[in-house]
Amino acid sequence: MPAEPVPERLRRNHIGGAWTSTARTRADVNPADLDDQLGDFAESSAADATAAVDAAWAVRESWEAAGPIERAAVVRRAARLIEAEADRFAAAITREQGKRLGEARGEVDRALAIMEFIAGEGRRLNGITTPAEEPRTLAMTFRRPIGVVGLITPWNFPLAIPVWKVAPALVAGCTAVLKPSPLTPLTAALLVDAFQRAGVPDGVLNLVQGDRDPGAALVDDHRVAGISFTGSLPVGQAINVAGAGRLLRTQLELGGKNAVIVLADADLAAAAAAIVHGAFGQSGQRCSATSRVIVDRRVKDELVGRVMARAASMRVGPGDVDGSDLGPVINDVRRDACLDAIQRAIAAGATVRGGGGPARVERDGRELDGYYVQPTVLSEVPWDSELAQEEIFGPVLAVIDCDGFDDAVRISNSVRYGMSATIFTADQGSMFQALNVLDAGMLHVNRPGVGAYAHLPHMGAKASQLGAPECSPDTWAFYTDLRSACIRY
Ligand code: NAD
Repeated sequence: MPAEPVPERLRRNHIGGAWTSTARTRADVNPADLDDQLGDFAESSAADATAAVDAAWAVRESWEAAGPIERAAVVRRAARLIEAEADRFAAAITREQGKRLGEARGEVDRALAIMEFIAGEGRRLNGITTPAEEPRTLAMTFRRPIGVVGLITPWNFPLAIPVWKVAPALVAGCTAVLKPSPLTPLTAALLVDAFQRAGVPDGVLNLVQGDRDPGAALVDDHRVAGISFTGSLPVGQAINVAGAGRLLRTQLELGGKNAVIVLADADLAAAAAAIVHGAFGQSGQRCSATSRVIVDRRVKDELVGRVMARAASMRVGPGDVDGSDLGPVINDVRRDACLDAIQRAIAAGATVRGGGGPARVERDGRELDGYYVQPTVLSEVPWDSELAQEEIFGPVLAVIDCDGFDDAVRISNSVRYGMSATIFTADQGSMFQALNVLDAGMLHVNRPGVGAYAHLPHMGAKASQLGAPECSPDTWAFYTDLRSACIRY
């Protein structure tokens, strides 16, 4: 069935309430089938980003004055529109990002849960009242929006991540410029379109498509009070350096190298299911994806056997085909990074247990030109080798041997990242001690290392995160400033 053409309007920027074109454009393609072109989308310059900041700056006072109840109502109305069009959003995500339709639908549901939670927060945004040091005096704190924010997002969750920035920005009273990944422009355009139909005032939410130039222009613009960024560690570091001179407030959500620890007393069937889900779901392209298994060598062979039994039966294919377990990776850069990392791991002494190369995929008898990688498991991976230390961001799993709890924790903590960490064990002491000693922001016990609740903070430790967490009331520390007031009466 031919895919729906993307209307020209949605391939533009959205600035000050109008869909505006740019001098340059960039093609958006389906990573599952390069013959499927979504069209040419806006490719913004620094000047386009500046025009968007102009628009956001002009309305920042009136949007703050609207108050949190009215602002939250806009988020709630946008959520209703997205819910009514959930299939359209899911189809767009699958078409330009590649994940399975079921995963895309799950992402839409997650975005809706976040919007529901954050809209409710519009009735809280609490400060405190506190005893005063003087008589007849009321002492209190309250929150104000920080002003214009730049929201820079990656391609792996093209709806949920923009939502978990846009929704709190608007409820807090900030005006915003969203700069999504150039690899997933359509989903961002659909989101901004939904907000426009929900009645967000012109200029409050602006969209600039494109890559580094508009992103860097937002970071450099002194009117932008904060940058909320999700993406890779090197780009996060560059943003922090560029903004340091003017004390730019940043919220940086970065990469991961997440471990699942399996102790000798663990339920191996449950652990294997969780590992396969965490490693190969969304083709391993999650910041919290399971990319290391640290297993007690006494149960290593049995665990690897169970993992392989599941992985070997997984079908690689387009995300919109029933029966596909694993969609493509996003582009040739990611595919080649996976395949090169596998070759270097073999040279470093690792053993390929399954997969290890590109996957050949057919549709209706035609071989698809897409970025397919087999689900790959390597064992005997040295804990300090590249595959065990660096984020690969694809369906490649490293199995590392360990000797008991302390050794497992040492290996888990040996990476510079600290996004998520998981332990499988039957021993209650090990479960609770793991929470004390694992260096990661999101911890899991006897469950998959992926998947988060809308009301729990989404955050990492060490080089996975800098600044306030997202997706919970903790995010107000980024979007708002706390004020104290003492009132004599
Ligand atoms: P990326 O760092 O290449 O790009 C992220 C965004 O930054 C894009 O919109 C890009 O156009 C923009 N950008 C690039 N250079 C810039 C610059 N100099 N100034 C401003 N903006 C710039 O990341 P990606 O490949 O899109 O996404 C994958 C990465 O995102 C992985 O490392 C993954 O772990 C991470 N990620 C983290 C989380 C989290 O919550 N911590 C969630 C999802 C993805």
